[in-house]
Amino acid sequence: MGIKLSNIHVSKSDGTNNLEIIKNLNIEVQKEDIFAIAGPSGSGKSTVLRLLNRLDDATSGEIYLDDTEIKSWDIRKLREKVGFVFQESALFEGSVLDNVIYGLRIRGIKKEEEQTIASALLEKVGLDPEYLDRDIEKLSGGQKQRVNIARTLALDPEIILLDEPTSALDPQGTKLIEDLMMELNEKHNKTIIFVTHNIDQIQRIAKRVLLLGIKKIAFFGTKGELFESTDLDITTFLKGGRE
Ligand code: ADP
Ligand code: MG
Repeated sequence: MGIKLSNIHVSKSDGTNNLEIIKNLNIEVQKEDIFAIAGPSGSGKSTVLRLLNRLDDATSGEIYLDDTEIKSWDIRKLREKVGFVFQESALFEGSVLDNVIYGLRIRGIKKEEEQTIASALLEKVGLDPEYLDRDIEKLSGGQKQRVNIARTLALDPEIILLDEPTSALDPQGTKLIEDLMMELNEKHNKTIIFVTHNIDQIQRIAKRVLLLGIKKIAFFGTKGELFESTDLDITTFLKGGRE
């Protein structure tokens, strides 16, 4: 399931001024992709993710999911196909199972099957099924983030959106989540689209990269092309911001 963004413009009012946030964005994300979106703070990275499952709509332009404009999709169907992994703090209080079941209920999975499917989902994210009854609060950051991803996987999306999925994690937790993202892509054929501030993370796991500058695209291409390009100091670029 491929995604195409065509002539996307996004502007928002801050009460007094109209801020042009994204200007003429044209990109494609392929089915097999691990697609990184990076850029300075305020460049519209989260906005791009939000557009993809209609948490936000562009001011103008079109987004196609498998050749159908996303506004023609039933929004529930769209959000099942395009899963959003919210920040870890969006997990509910309660057990791991409580959190994973949430997605299964939306899918209309029968109560008798919940436990079995939830166990399989935990296994998919690399957590032993014995964690099902654990209290969310007792888990490490990396484990919480894996439950968070399992919760999104409960809807069986083809495309998974992650907004800075490792920003709260230590290097060990980060590695677990990066490995999981690559495994979901390679073994389970999920398209992964993630936002990051971390250039090493792009180097480690991305296939294609979008660098968003303020009101412009600074780069769109493969990771290889990005690191071969000499006319962009990526580290300095990522530290810039909206005036
Ligand atoms: P990033 O994730 O790259 O830091 P965002 O996509 O969150 O950037 O936001 C881009 C810009 O849009 C920021 O300047 C932010 O203040 C502004 N913005 C985001 N949402 C709104 C909104 N609902 N109303 C007004 N401005 C917004
Ligand atoms: Mg953001």
